[in-house]
Amino acid sequence: MPFSKAVDSRIILTRLRETLAEPGEGQERLDRIVKLIANGIVAEVCSVYLRRDDEWLELCATQGLKPESVHHTRLRMGQGLVGRIAERAEPLNTGDAAHTAGFRFMPETGEEIYSSFLGVPIQRLGEVLGVLVVQNREAREYSDDVVYALEVVAMVIAEMAELGAFIGPGPMEIARPHQGPFFARGLVGQEGVAEGRVVLHEPNIVVSQPISEDPEEECARLRAAITALRAEVDEMLEADFLTMTGEHRDVLHAYRMFAHDKGWVRRIEDSILSGLAAEVAVEKEQSATRTRMSRVADPYIRERLHDLDDLSNRLLRLLAGIEPNNGRDIPDDAILVARNIGPAELLDYGRKLRGVVLEEGSVGSHAAIVARALAIPLVIQAERITREAQNGDHILVDGDLATVHLRPEDSVTNAFREKIEMLAEAQEEYATLRDKPATTCDGVTIGLHMNAGLMADLPSLPKCGALGVGLFRTELQFLIRSTVPRRADLAALYNRILNAAGERPVIFRTLDIGSDKVLPYMKRPEEPNPALGWRAIRVGLDRKGVMRMQLQALVRGAQGRPLHVMFPFVAEASEHEAAREIFLSVLEREQELGHTIPATVRIGAMLETPSLAYAPGRFFKMTDFISIGGNDLKQFFFAADRENELVRRRYDTLSISFLDFIGHIVGRCHEHGTPLSFCGEDAGRPVDALGLVATGIRTLSMRPASIGPVKALLRQVDLGEVRALIAEARAAGTCSARPAIEAYLARRGIAH
Ligand code: PEP
Ligand code: MG
Repeated sequence: MPFSKAVDSRIILTRLRETLAEPGEGQERLDRIVKLIANGIVAEVCSVYLRRDDEWLELCATQGLKPESVHHTRLRMGQGLVGRIAERAEPLNTGDAAHTAGFRFMPETGEEIYSSFLGVPIQRLGEVLGVLVVQNREAREYSDDVVYALEVVAMVIAEMAELGAFIGPGPMEIARPHQGPFFARGLVGQEGVAEGRVVLHEPNIVVSQPISEDPEEECARLRAAITALRAEVDEMLEADFLTMTGEHRDVLHAYRMFAHDKGWVRRIEDSILSGLAAEVAVEKEQSATRTRMSRVADPYIRERLHDLDDLSNRLLRLLAGIEPNNGRDIPDDAILVARNIGPAELLDYGRKLRGVVLEEGSVGSHAAIVARALAIPLVIQAERITREAQNGDHILVDGDLATVHLRPEDSVTNAFREKIEMLAEAQEEYATLRDKPATTCDGVTIGLHMNAGLMADLPSLPKCGALGVGLFRTELQFLIRSTVPRRADLAALYNRILNAAGERPVIFRTLDIGSDKVLPYMKRPEEPNPALGWRAIRVGLDRKGVMRMQLQALVRGAQGRPLHVMFPFVAEASEHEAAREIFLSVLEREQELGHTIPATVRIGAMLETPSLAYAPGRFFKMTDFISIGGNDLKQFFFAADRENELVRRRYDTLSISFLDFIGHIVGRCHEHGTPLSFCGEDAGRPVDALGLVATGIRTLSMRPASIGPVKALLRQVDLGEVRALIAEARAAGTCSARPAIEAYLARRGIAH
């Protein structure tokens, strides 16, 4: 009855430590290890399969199978029992291997005589690096004891693999995780390209001694770290309560709950008692959490598992005595790599970053908004990047194509540098246009303004040649804090912004929250469809206090200068009337209080819902200006969620239907003499901007980096000709004017 014999993983690990300390190349080491495990577990076979690449697993060492199969037997991920273990990242224990679903007969190994099979993933932080297998002739399942021991041993093998302990010449070159080139394709968070060195937001902790010599002492170390962790979480909660600068309370409460979870701590202790170092024991738990995370679809449970994962990272840092990366000591060419990051943390790194790569994140996330404000390339949802990247790795980020090259080959780097050079040349050319107007060949001048959301954006204003700030998104100041900002702080900020803008006008958009922009400190109802829910002006009109406070701050910040304010997401004339009334009453009150009133006040509305395009004439007369929020307007026009990758690119801004709708708005504004601009992201895409301008838009507001390209294009085109092309496309029943406009630009040799 060999399998139910109690197996003491501590004995195996002690021997393993001795074996690992002996000199030798990777292959020799691995050969010794499989022998040692086979003896320790009383198995007739012990084999290690390592990942050759994303697709293949290779038999790298065996005790018991035919030696000639080593480095010849390969299995795809998901193929055979070994491939299934790797794919599912979970053990497989069977007394009848040949009849277990997925079994694949590999004659070269001679394994047909072994009925029982136990395989466990060799994994580190949720990443499967290989599979460890034991086999016996007798048809019997292995005991839980053996499964656990093998898992513990697999943890050590994973740590050793990470340290490069199995690297060797020839076929063992494969045992080199995270050394070769790695490529990831994610989603565009923010355009632009950057080359630099990886800075991991959460430092990767590599344990040099994965087996502990003294489990009791190791447990004491864990207990001390847990105590420190609990104190840290309590402190965070207290700070959040008292100084209002901490993190979101729900998250903190979840942290606290996990930090006090006895089951979690006990499982880590058990692993330590079985011979693992404390850090590796925490990682073992973390691997299990990450495997669960990859399977859970429920967003709430995923979030909680993320909290647990974050907590494990904190615990690891405490054990290793490493400070979290706070952005202070980072190199000049830093590219931040993180699983996800909050807006405030990203702002802490600030201008020192050249780019950001996130494993998660969404287009509309606050981090993406900040990256946009910082004008640095951002690639989101880059799979496995935090596991692959090591601090200091060479990295290329292409925010235009949403690609990331880690530790790239020279040929890739060279091609990338050529692209950077070409873009730099184009930038130089744009710089020469800075003080020139955006006037088309047929003499139509377009006003190009920039979008902003941070004080840090303002230096771009003179540099990019924008005429002013056409959209200042004020919500960022609310999003990056844990409580409502104070009126005096806001007034001071608005004042600094107006000072920095000088003569150029700034249009402040009042707080646009809800939908994707959720304030951590504001209680919100659960909404089935937040994009269509309680957001923007709807919140402002229902919570007048915050709206009045912000308007007061704007009035005080202006210090007598002209003030331009617009309300977001107005769907009906009555909403604009009500908001305008509030503003006028604030002005009156401010005057009574003795504050200086702005020299002029212009109150505008954002047109982001189709309904407003059909508002009664009195709305167009009453509002001082209208700005089309194309991001939202397009999502509602086509009923296509702007954040849903499955649909967000499906409909074209240059579709005749959308352009005709824009034309309708242009017509209504013209009829009533209402100034009109367009400030969605499409304004910054040169060809889209051309389509909008040909439809009658005369003012565009965009991210600063787009002003040059849009201006360069507009200065080379004849609007009359483009208008004719659109009319032809319409008459021909073509869906989109884009092919015709692209062909026109190509004929004229106009690059874009
Ligand atoms: C828009 O909707 O186009 C817009 C400019 O506002 P935001 O992207 O902030 O919703
Ligand atoms: Mg909007």
